[in-house]
Formats: sequence, structure tokens, C-alpha cells
Amino acid sequence: MYTRYFSRLLSAMAGPRPVVLSGPSGAGKSTLLKKLMKEYDGVFGFSVSHTTRLPRPGEEDGKDYHYVTREAMQAQIDGGEFIENAEFSGNMYGTSRAAVQAVQANNLICILDIDMQGVKNIKRTDLNPIYVSIQPPSMAILEKRLRDRKTESEENLQRRLRAAQVDMEISKELGLFDVVIVNDNLEDAYGKLRDALLVEIGKVKKANMSS
Ligand code: ADP
Ligand code: 5GP
Repeated sequence: MYTRYFSRLLSAMAGPRPVVLSGPSGAGKSTLLKKLMKEYDGVFGFSVSHTTRLPRPGEEDGKDYHYVTREAMQAQIDGGEFIENAEFSGNMYGTSRAAVQAVQANNLICILDIDMQGVKNIKRTDLNPIYVSIQPPSMAILEKRLRDRKTESEENLQRRLRAAQVDMEISKELGLFDVVIVNDNLEDAYGKLRDALLVEIGKVKKANMSS
């Protein structure tokens, strides 16, 4: 009984739970999280990952990613600065401890947009996030969205589609995700995401009111 009491007390003191958003490239994670951060200004904070890929038009260093060289990133990984890191579609990606701490220091809900390897690695940490999988309605629709986004070369697009196939299979594994959302109609998918996070959103709003 006391153990349960103290673990509840500790989690209440620790602030809101982070949120992991995962799912195939092109499933709509960035689109959904931008909507969330716009509607709930001052509630969420994005964990800015490191990557060795080049910025896309419109992306900003330090906001969307920290764009780094392979050598610099490897040195930081070797120095123990990362919570998790992975190789995806020919590039390195990783979540630094500093990225998560920067958000949590402000008592915001920390959002991590990471791939399936990241999900599995985060499960071995004590971060205790809510795991949300964003899935496309079908491979054909995913391919169309990725092509229409016009951000990938044909080779990269094919790599991402192969990774998507694996992701869609694994995400069905029972217990891996707390919520699986199929992003068919954007507003419906957004409503489901918001509903899944309402308890944590409420915690931040309450803390903001009393401070
Ligand atoms: P991810 O961050 O998962 O790689 P994006 O958010 O970049 O995916 O979405 C991929 C593309 O699909 C973008 O061009 C986006 O505008 C579009 N998109 C996202 N959700 C929908 C949707 N529900 N219906 C139609 N297009 C969508
Ligand atoms: P993109 O190049 O489209 O921005 O991202 C490609 C993939 O890398 C996406 O599935 C995205 O979720 C994932 N990703 C982005 N940042 C990280 C990270 O820090 N760690 C891991 N493991 N995956 C990441």
C-alpha cells in the first residue's frame, strides 16, 4: 500500500508524462504535433533531436533538429550524451538528454518524434512516456503522401517505404503502444490524439494556474 502511495507521489512530483509519437515516415506525425503545439501553446515542448540528414526547405537548425555531422554525433554518443539513437534511412538520429531536460525543466509535456528502434530503446529507460503510434490508412496512401511532400529522392522514398512496412507490422504488437491512431481524416486523427493526452494536458494547465 505504501509502495503504491509513494510511487504515485513521486510521479505527481515528477511533472507531466512525456509523449512518444512514432509511426512510418509520412504517416503525419509532424502535422499532428504542430496542430497540438498550436492549440496548446505553453503546454507542450518538442524534444529537438540530432540528425545527420540535411535540413529540408523550411526546417530550422535548433528547432526541427540539431543538424550535425556523423563524426560530431558519434563523439557525443560515445560521451554518453544521448538517451537513445538509431540509424534510419541512411542517417543517424538521436535524442539527447539535454533535449528532454530542456523541456522538462519548464514543466511542459515533452514530445519525442522517434522511429521504432527509438521506441524500443526508450522502453529500457525510466522516462515513462505515453506511447502513441500514428499509422497511415494504407501503404498506397502513405506512398502518395510521401511523394506529394516532395522531400525525398526516389531512393530515399523507397527506403522509407520499406521501413514503413516493417513499422506497420511491429506496431500491431500488443502492449508496444498505449494508443494506435490511424491518420485517415486529419481532424479525426487529431481529435483522438488530443483525447489521449487530455489528462496530461490538464496537469500542466493546473500547474500553470497555480503558479
Ligand atoms: P511524418 O512527420 O510522419 O513524416 P508529415 O506530417 O510530414 O509526416 O505528413 C506527410 C505528408 O502528408 C505531409 O505533406 C502532410 O501535409 C500530409 N498529411 C498528413 N496528414 C494527412 C491527412 N490526414 N490527410 C492528407 N494528407 C496528410
Ligand atoms: P525525418 O527524416 O522524416 O525527419 O525522420 C525520419 C524518422 O526518424 C522518423 O520516423 C522520425 O520519427 C525518426 N526520428 C526523428 N528523430 C529521432 C530520434 O531522435 N531518434 C530516433 N530513434 N528516431 C528519430
